[in-house]
Amino acid sequence: MTANEVRNVAITEVLNRSGVETAEIHPLSETWACDVFNLAKMEEALSKNAFKAVKKTVQTGEPLDPATADIVASAMKHWAMGKGAKFFSHVFYPLTNITAEKHDGFIVTNADGNAITEFTGSLLIKGEPDGSSFPNGSLRMTNAARGYTAWDPTSPAYIMQTANGATLMIPSVFMSWTGEALDKKIPLLRSNAAMDKAARRVLTLMGETDIAPLNASCGPEQEYFLVDQHFAAARPDLLLAGRTLFGAAPAKGQEFDDHYFGAIPERVQIFMQAFEDKLYRLGIPAKTHHNEVAPGQFEIAPYHEAANVAADHQQLLMTVMKATAAEHGFLCLLHEKPFAGINGSGKHVNWSVGNSTQGNLLDPGTSPEHNLNFLLFCGAVIRGVHKFGPLLRAVIATASNDHRLGANEAPPAILSVYLGDQLEAVFDDIKNGKVSVSSDGGVMDLGLSQILNFKRDPGDRNRTSPFAFTGNRFEFRAVGSSQSVSGPLVAMNTMLADSLGWIADKLEAELAAGNSKVKAVATVLQELMQLHGNAIFGGDGYSAEWHEAAVTERGLRNLPTSADALPVFTEPEVVELFESTDVLSAVELNARYEVYAEQYINSIAVEAKLVIDLAKTVIYPAALKYVADLAHTYTAVEALGASFDTGQVKVITENMNRLLETVAELATELDRHDFADTKAHMAHSATTIRALMDQARVHADALECEVDDAAWPLPKYREMLFIK
Ligand code: ADP
Ligand code: MG
Repeated sequence: MTANEVRNVAITEVLNRSGVETAEIHPLSETWACDVFNLAKMEEALSKNAFKAVKKTVQTGEPLDPATADIVASAMKHWAMGKGAKFFSHVFYPLTNITAEKHDGFIVTNADGNAITEFTGSLLIKGEPDGSSFPNGSLRMTNAARGYTAWDPTSPAYIMQTANGATLMIPSVFMSWTGEALDKKIPLLRSNAAMDKAARRVLTLMGETDIAPLNASCGPEQEYFLVDQHFAAARPDLLLAGRTLFGAAPAKGQEFDDHYFGAIPERVQIFMQAFEDKLYRLGIPAKTHHNEVAPGQFEIAPYHEAANVAADHQQLLMTVMKATAAEHGFLCLLHEKPFAGINGSGKHVNWSVGNSTQGNLLDPGTSPEHNLNFLLFCGAVIRGVHKFGPLLRAVIATASNDHRLGANEAPPAILSVYLGDQLEAVFDDIKNGKVSVSSDGGVMDLGLSQILNFKRDPGDRNRTSPFAFTGNRFEFRAVGSSQSVSGPLVAMNTMLADSLGWIADKLEAELAAGNSKVKAVATVLQELMQLHGNAIFGGDGYSAEWHEAAVTERGLRNLPTSADALPVFTEPEVVELFESTDVLSAVELNARYEVYAEQYINSIAVEAKLVIDLAKTVIYPAALKYVADLAHTYTAVEALGASFDTGQVKVITENMNRLLETVAELATELDRHDFADTKAHMAHSATTIRALMDQARVHADALECEVDDAAWPLPKYREMLFIK
């Protein structure tokens, strides 16, 4: 079939699609977490003592003794086999964005050649995938490349069901023999521990005595596109790069705002219900779904959970979403910008910290004591965003997210923090010393009456801010839709740990000098605001004035591309941040920089090669055939003594020539390897390669607007976005 026939078949198939497949949806009470080996199932399966030991491990992450591990492994195997599992797999999160698994059978044969099953504590606790092919940023020599996986008991094991069977999945960390983190889970666990330690210091200084373990919470909102699989099959760019590299804008886009929160198309609704049914089985609390701004774009937001579990669930959600979409005849696109000219997709990471004794420390409450804590934690976030804004930019730096950041739909590449009018006013007063403390250290004098009256106002939003306070949490809005949430969570937890440490030092000194708690808080926060208040911004983050003022007046950094942002991982303050909090060593951090930089360069190179390929072998030939047709027709018409205006042929041939010229230049630039260092190579990808790809697209899209629709080889935007 020619490309053009594929497009026509796709259109025919989609238009003739007979009814939508539906699956049986079960009541929540039957399905909720039925495939998860959670504490409730352990309690049923284990002896009292074994359960007590494992519960402690689950809650604290402390290692399990080998005897108990054997008991847990055996119970887990029994439960999993009861659900049809014959295989188990440690699931881990290498530095690529994927979720990695290596499946092993429970089966072993005994001396008599009979098949028996085995799953010991040591198999549960430790796995040895031959991880030599995972990127490690030269942390391991390949000849000594064995990394190993280790069970993370704080994230429950679960069953992955397919039509043909089931597999027991064990969430794990992935590290080198020398103990270096090779994955995204280890730093997340370490960052939570660092945050817990620093938060505990502050809370103790504030007079709290009963302090339960602190945890970061995360509620990610996932945006995505759905395109009918028939169209996707005829778009090599969607299949290989996850986004359209060519495609003229349709006559209608999102200008009528008629998609956002609109009625969900039935076919999509049925997909969502089937998808969420699977999530519920896996104990993922899917809560909200709706249409998004762009045609063909949707969102799903699970309810927030402990950050480590939320991060695992988020990875699982993306896997299940893609698989379920395929069952429903869709290609699910998680790319940040699958279609030019309409909104891209993000993943807002809602984040807070708290525990069972003090509650959510980013939620202003009704007690003055709680509000003092709230102000300190909120101040710590402000300091973190100011000091480590460039790091926050670096952890969301991917080739795909660059298409979205800074465009007028997604947060700018300058990191500032939005507090809302009321809270901003409180922090302003603190900064300007307008807060006076009464002689008896009265709390109300701290300007807290405003906080006490703080109402969670969902309308009090600033959608142009990359990092916004939303009443009881911060929402990191600049995160990309295809990303793991781990990197952003690690950065937030770690910057918070650092700031809380700074606050604790200052508080300690103030209190030692005999000041009241309230006076000490006011003094410390005033200094904090004088040093770091510049990060607070409530205005229009998209405006040109802000881009100017942020840099010149506020001293904030604008890092427009990932090529600018990724080197932040190697800057001394960032290395110091991660080392001092024991989250990542300088070596581990540098490995991450190398891996991410390489991914950036590679993903742009793959797209560039596709641009060259499609331009030369699909788009150019289609235009050439059409020109030949036109020439034929012109000759025939001239034979009749009439003639056509040949302007159209000129436009077409002109764009064809420029297209070939541009991709030839692109090929030459792609072949270059004479870069001083990785940074220079990234800059070349960001500027030269990307610019030539854009230029090629201009000519290709111009051709799409000239060539006979019946002869155009690639499904068009209007088809992919509007035909469901
Ligand atoms: P919106 O689109 O208005 O931002 P959504 O309801 O789509 O809100 O998503 C909000 C997300 O924030 C949900 O995942 C929710 O569970 C999460 N969330 C709510 N409170 C907290 C909190 N304290 N900490 C972390 N996440 C939270
Ligand atoms: Mg949101």
